[in-house]
Amino acid sequence: MSRGGAGWRAWLPELAVLAGLLLGPLVLPPLGIGADLAARILIWGLFGLGFDLLFGYTGLLSFGQAAFYGVGGFVTAYLLTDGGFSQLLPALALGTLAAGAAALLIGLLTLRRTGIYFAMSTLAFAEMFFFLENSPLKDYTGGENGIAGIPPPVLSLGFVKFAIGSGWPMYAFVGGFFLIGYIVARRVVHSPFGAVLSAIRGNPVRAMALGHSIQTYKLAVFVIAALYGGLAGGLLGLFQSFMPPDAFTLDTSGQLVIQTVIGGAGTLLGPLLGATIWLTLYEALQHVAGLGAAWKLILGAVFVLLITVFRHGVGGALLAAARRMRGLRAAPDDSPHAAAAPQLDIVAAAPAAPGAPVLEARGITKQYGGLTAVGDVSFTLAEGEMRGVIGPNGAGKSTFFKMLAGEVRPTQGQVFLRGAEITGLGVTAVCQRGMSKSYQINQLFETLTVRQNMMIAVLARARGRFRLDLLRRLASMREAGAQAEAAIQLVGLGPHADSVVAELAYGEKRRLEIGLALATGANVLLFDEPLAGLGPEERVQIVALLKAIRSGRTMVIVEHDMDAMFELAERITVLYEGRKLAEGTPEAIQRDPAVQDAYLGGVHE
Ligand code: ADP
Repeated sequence: MSRGGAGWRAWLPELAVLAGLLLGPLVLPPLGIGADLAARILIWGLFGLGFDLLFGYTGLLSFGQAAFYGVGGFVTAYLLTDGGFSQLLPALALGTLAAGAAALLIGLLTLRRTGIYFAMSTLAFAEMFFFLENSPLKDYTGGENGIAGIPPPVLSLGFVKFAIGSGWPMYAFVGGFFLIGYIVARRVVHSPFGAVLSAIRGNPVRAMALGHSIQTYKLAVFVIAALYGGLAGGLLGLFQSFMPPDAFTLDTSGQLVIQTVIGGAGTLLGPLLGATIWLTLYEALQHVAGLGAAWKLILGAVFVLLITVFRHGVGGALLAAARRMRGLRAAPDDSPHAAAAPQLDIVAAAPAAPGAPVLEARGITKQYGGLTAVGDVSFTLAEGEMRGVIGPNGAGKSTFFKMLAGEVRPTQGQVFLRGAEITGLGVTAVCQRGMSKSYQINQLFETLTVRQNMMIAVLARARGRFRLDLLRRLASMREAGAQAEAAIQLVGLGPHADSVVAELAYGEKRRLEIGLALATGANVLLFDEPLAGLGPEERVQIVALLKAIRSGRTMVIVEHDMDAMFELAERITVLYEGRKLAEGTPEAIQRDPAVQDAYLGGVHE
């Protein structure tokens, strides 16, 4: 039985959250947390669920989440006041959707950049939204005064109506939304979509090269995070019958980041935990007599202390402790486990033009400034061929490879895969068409297990460039699990299938590097120095592996190890100073005087 489908146990975290929410009114007051503070914490926790999907799971740090909190809050508040909406849920839903729509726009503009540039551009957008709310839109938002007089939530079920008062009823109302938000977020994390998010956090370059349209995934999770933010903002207005203008400020975005980091990013409940610590301290310190403004200093010191002591937040530390007790080293792997490994499928794209070569480059050139890295190289590859590409350092081999694989756009010339032009299509589309590359320097998902790594490659084939299967369980994808298992067996990593990649020996990582390319199902494979950095014994094993996977596949190998190359390749293309110097059988290449002069230095004579 697959682990993910283990009956009610799979629902333990949700049941624990439900129990926690039910026990709240009993256990929180003795800790100094009243109903109002508890409801406020839950609103931050809900806001944080979305942010954690974005930051903790996908690795995208946004400093602009206040924009969505504000949009959701103000749209909901406006609809319920001047907007004349009497129904609560449609107003909340429209507020939430408005936040999502804002995120679609902001995401399209900001997600082109990564790292600090992305973070700063989200911040800039949030500031723009703050300005919009305060000035041009102040007739709708109340400007500096915010929107007051939001009626208390009334839930109407047909002819029965419940008015929700402040205090614990409000806590229960917000708690219901938090529970639903948590259930959905956990489904997302354990879905194939969620697996791709973790791949993007681990290694976006490889996730893209394995056939996932990572920009679309990033945009999707950015919108999802904003939907959570918008809903939380809407609830904030309902909770305090007032929508404050500061929902839009940088402080709000900053506080969300702080709470998530304190509580533990990548744990879903981390932001809730962080909000509990932060807001409780905040309230308590302000009421300590004689402290004056020094409460800020203390709060700051506590923050520094917490993030210094707990590298992955308080929640991260608790999870690690729980895993140690259960004897687990890594996060539970919900990839489906297949008992028997079938053959690894090879996806054969139908030839677009009958009789066309499998892969063809026509006069491809790449210039960097004044330097011609590759100049006018043509090349054709027949079905089932094993081709070697050699040349001294700087000859242009890597650049040539990158142009074939779609990583680098040629300055001139064209590339065809089975007769269809793929020039400039990009590495994701090329992989989806059945050609994949292994890298000279390992490009793996280091924090994931070998099985999870293989799943990332298999998922791109099973699901295409992008799929919004948020609620599907990864664990239910038996066929994909069997394919991942087959890839693991094929490269001989069976004994390490459930090891975290960071803990593997270098030679094992090299096998996985090849395995990822195979697991995509590609039938045209480009191997960039597969033997790089290996000892003599490991080289022999990898050469044997490359021979073993030949059947049904067409391969190109760049390699420095001449003996291996002459053993493996049927034909060899020699590059020299960016040009094609010679092409032929290994024997002919060894005898070629031009090659000897330029490259072998006569040693093979
Ligand atoms: P090889 O793989 O055969 O060692 P490369 O393709 O890495 O050769 O490099 C060919 C030439 O192109 C080298 O002179 C290298 O410095 C240059 N080059 C490669 N990539 C870039 C780049 N991104 N920007 C500028 N020059 C580059």
